[in-house]
Amino acid sequence: MDSPSNWHTMSTDQVCQTLHTTHEGLRSEQIAKRLNQFGANRLPEPPRRGWLMRLLAQFHNVLIYVLIIAALVTALLGHTVDSGVIVAVVLITALVGFIQEGKAEKAIDAVRNMLSQQAIVIRDGHRMQIPAKELVPGDIVFIQSGDRVPADLHLFKIKNLHIEEALLTGESVPVHKQVEPVAVDAPLGDRRNMAFSGALVTYGQGTGIVVETGAKTEIGRISTMLSEVRTLTTPLTRQLDDFGRWLTGAILFIATLTMMFGYWVRDYALGDMFLAAVGLAVAAIPEGLPAVITIALAIGVQRMANRRAIIRRLPAVETLGSVSIICSDKTGTLTRNEMTVTTVVTAQYIANISGVGYNPHGTFSCNNQDISPQHQPELLEICRASILCNDATLIEKDEEWAIEGDPTEGALLVLGAKSGLEPKNLIQTMPRDDLIPFESEHCFMATLHHDHAGNGIIYVKGAIEAILSRCNKQQRKGKIEPLDPHFWLNQQEQIAAQGKRTLAIAMRPVPENHRILHFNEIDSGLILLGVVGIIDPPRDEAIEAVYSCHQAGIKMKMITGDHATTASAIAMQMGITSHPRSLTGIEIEPMNDEQLRDAVESIDIFARAGPQHKLRIVEALQDRQHIVAMTGDGVNDAPSLKRANVGTAMGIKGTEAAKEASEMVLADDNFASIAHAVEEGRTVFDNIRKSILFILPTNGGQALTIIAAIAMGTTLPVTPAQILWVNMITAVTLALSLTVEPAEPDVMQRPPRNTRTPILSRFMIWRIVFVSLLMVTGTFGLFLWELNNRESIETARTVAINTLVVLEGFYLLNSRYQIASVLNREGLLGNRYVLYAICWVVFFQLAFTYLPIMQSFFHTTDIGVASWGRILIVGAILFLLVELEKKLMHRTKL
Ligand code: ATP
Repeated sequence: MDSPSNWHTMSTDQVCQTLHTTHEGLRSEQIAKRLNQFGANRLPEPPRRGWLMRLLAQFHNVLIYVLIIAALVTALLGHTVDSGVIVAVVLITALVGFIQEGKAEKAIDAVRNMLSQQAIVIRDGHRMQIPAKELVPGDIVFIQSGDRVPADLHLFKIKNLHIEEALLTGESVPVHKQVEPVAVDAPLGDRRNMAFSGALVTYGQGTGIVVETGAKTEIGRISTMLSEVRTLTTPLTRQLDDFGRWLTGAILFIATLTMMFGYWVRDYALGDMFLAAVGLAVAAIPEGLPAVITIALAIGVQRMANRRAIIRRLPAVETLGSVSIICSDKTGTLTRNEMTVTTVVTAQYIANISGVGYNPHGTFSCNNQDISPQHQPELLEICRASILCNDATLIEKDEEWAIEGDPTEGALLVLGAKSGLEPKNLIQTMPRDDLIPFESEHCFMATLHHDHAGNGIIYVKGAIEAILSRCNKQQRKGKIEPLDPHFWLNQQEQIAAQGKRTLAIAMRPVPENHRILHFNEIDSGLILLGVVGIIDPPRDEAIEAVYSCHQAGIKMKMITGDHATTASAIAMQMGITSHPRSLTGIEIEPMNDEQLRDAVESIDIFARAGPQHKLRIVEALQDRQHIVAMTGDGVNDAPSLKRANVGTAMGIKGTEAAKEASEMVLADDNFASIAHAVEEGRTVFDNIRKSILFILPTNGGQALTIIAAIAMGTTLPVTPAQILWVNMITAVTLALSLTVEPAEPDVMQRPPRNTRTPILSRFMIWRIVFVSLLMVTGTFGLFLWELNNRESIETARTVAINTLVVLEGFYLLNSRYQIASVLNREGLLGNRYVLYAICWVVFFQLAFTYLPIMQSFFHTTDIGVASWGRILIVGAILFLLVELEKKLMHRTKL
């Protein structure tokens, strides 16, 4: 099978012949062969940054430059041990950063791959959904508004199909497609009978034959990958980078000052002072911090994915932690999207329908008396319309009934089947000539049918306002009479007040030769058949999630396409609001921005709201300084999803366009997953804060120890090489363990974080100073104790360095909770990674103290049990003092 490049000049029959396919789709035996022959429908990945580049990038950091210069100068001064240790620190820190960031990148890629594009195909005569990468030439593919075209298609059936091909042609106005062949020399933008892979369907529907896949598609030829740039930087990491640079400058300044002070005032040798300054700089700079933060974010992404919230852009992880308003749609997100028609209102009576779920068995009753729809002309006509004006299919698998397609339509199909009509037979006896697909902008769907005797009929179903305004008659007892709009509006209010969705159904007979359906023909003159009421129960887990969001100080807004009364009833049932006041899209329209800003603060329900209203609502909320998470699914939701701080698309019913505009995708369309993501977001932020609160005082303690020694004119209690050792060991073990801290119990009981508060709060600065001072006192104290007991300088230094590490170990336990006490089982043992990290450090320290090779390298010596006892006591004292400080802080509420 060769592949001509002039598909656009061919007729559909020619394409079918060339690709050996039919409108019924390929047969299964053809598919495997073609997949082998043509390969997966995937674009080649762009060249990734190689491992060498990623490794080298680790050295691109002010601190590392400082260290490399220090290593060079110390080597020139003849201090090969110090120089060797500095080189080792550089290499090990870079290596750990390289490995951990590699892991973080992989984790984020893995999550991204969960969002593979899907395509609807017809194969073996059946319509089904498959991953787009499994498409092969000859497949019949169905596309509709919001889809990205999954491969290059030759179109043969379209309805108002508009496709935006800016990606290929640069033209952002959508192209109206057609099915007729075009001239051979037509440029890409004029090949109207083709849909090109990667282009966006902005309106309508179409069906086409796959002609090219993967790298052979037009987009495959001009570029490789459409996906966004992979990045591990976020506003927070950037802010911290700046902070790091500022800190480096300040530290270098202090180190220089200390060196000059030691040399001139205390008469130390310049070489010694230089080494001390290097040690001081290295001790004070938190080189592990950037890696720790990236890792904390990546872990957040993974945890969120486990809770069905897939992050598409890393910054969303931290933004989620400060979300103050969630705007959610209703159907499927707050409710289960398992629809059942329970009420049918005709002009004459109200019928109740029994049965659960999609099982097509149930009875019709009126005033508690069973009725047979077969004997009720209006009811039967409504059931017939429900089956015919419908794109869903009912399937039975292992005695379970399910539907494929839109759940609202599924419910109507089941209603039809319950009446005794056989959907398959009916579709054959009254085939569809044409349709106007459902779009949320016009809120209805219409189909045109003819039976074999030539009788034509249009069926229309949709939102009651959309249908009522198009009707002027109604049917009662098989007769046509003038429409009584008040009766219907009243009925609809009553059904909606129970939280049911309502849908009106209308019809109009047409002559035999009428085979094409135009919009303007259904503008008026329809005959209303009845109104159906559909239950869609709230999700239990969403009710809990709404409660927990309220506890967490997050306000909820429901923005739905549904009717105001239905929306209010559901919002009240779910505890979203306590007053049923709502605002509809039509009411929003005349409001100016100031009026809308006031309204969005006080009103929680927005009904019959379209994408343009969503955008205005987000903007109004943001103007009031809210951080907004907003859900959406349609192609037109993209602007509001982009605008929201955390745009959230639906994984199941969402379009590709919505997903691409979003920061986050909910794999299960469930509101509870947003609440979980917020909880994880807050936890990530907490953990980043905890890591900072742990790392900075340890650096502070180390640096102050050196400064104190020089200031007091005593021998340095730790040598620069020893300091470097501590820094390296603690950075790669202890600090990392805080990134996996589980959520604190009250994480969803606090108000959202104010994004304008700096990362380092007053409380944090205080804690950093307080712990740094405790550390220097402990370390220096034991160092002097050993010297006073006539121990050698080596012993005193070994004790001092071990004290520093033990203090850090104890303080790591303190750091698990910022304010809450850790003096309980959960606090001490709750994070096994903290315990592993402490074990590792103990192991390293024993090696550092007792291994001869380490002793000769770092000038350490054996120390006795008594010294260890004193070190542990000092550690425990620091631990208890920090716990005491937490208690006092808690009281003073700093
Ligand atoms: P949400 O925005 O919360 O998901 P929704 O699903 O009700 O709410 P839309 O899909 O925009 O919002 O539907 C709006 C209205 O259009 C519905 O209330 C219903 O009356 C009507 N409607 C929904 N689906 C169909 C359909 N397949 N055919 C005809 N009318 C429909």
